[in-house]
Parts: sequence; C-alpha cells; structure tokens
Amino acid sequence: MDKFEEIFNQLMEMLEEEKKEKIEELEGDCVCPICPSYNQCAKDSDEKLFCIIGKSEPCITNERGCMCPTCPLAAKFGIGVKYNFYCTRGSEIEHRKM
Ligand code: SF4
Ligand code: SF4
Repeated sequence: MDKFEEIFNQLMEMLEEEKKEKIEELEGDCVCPICPSYNQCAKDSDEKLFCIIGKSEPCITNERGCMCPTCPLAAKFGIGVKYNFYCTRGSEIEHRKM
C-alpha cells in the first residue's frame, strides 16, 4: 500500500466530523483553484481535492490544463503525474481500478 492509499483508507475509516476536518486540512494544499480548468461554478460550490473526492459534477467539463503535477499534496502522496485531470476523469483510486 502506498502513501496515497494509506491516507485514502484512513479517510474512509473516519467518522463524518473527523473526515470533514481532515479533508479541509488537505484542501489547503490543493492548487485546483489556480488551475486554468477551474471555473466559477467550481469556485461557487467550493469544490477541490478531486483526486480524493472524484469528478467535479457538473461544474468542470472543459480540460484546459491541469496543475496536479505541481501540487504539494500530490507530491506528498506520490500522485498527480501518471494520472491527473481528476476533476473531469475521476479520482486517483478510480484511475487505478481502470
Ligand atoms: S492532486 Fe490535483 S486535485 Fe488533488 S489536491 Fe492536488 S491539485 Fe487538487
Ligand atoms: S484536477 Fe487538475 S485539471 Fe482539474 S481543476 Fe484540479 S488541477 Fe485543474
């Protein structure tokens, strides 16, 4: 199990309140809001962390580049390079299962 699977499994085992707090903490490193693909709809819905949460539905539909390879969270957990565009293509876990 790699670092990403570890944090993902930890999140899945957390109670809702604890999970919410951890997600907010992780969101602090997410660079999606400065990505060219990020749009006003996603901003208004405060959507981030697509690598964990999964696709942006229905906000982000046009791929205009992806900042995941430069994201500190991605670097920390070893993701964002092989797979990215999580907002339109699904979470890291979904990619790995394909
Ligand atoms: S890897 Fe991409 S989706 Fe995940 S936190 Fe970083 S910028 Fe956001
Ligand atoms: S997942 Fe990638 S493409 Fe989508 S908003 Fe985040 S950085 Fe941009």
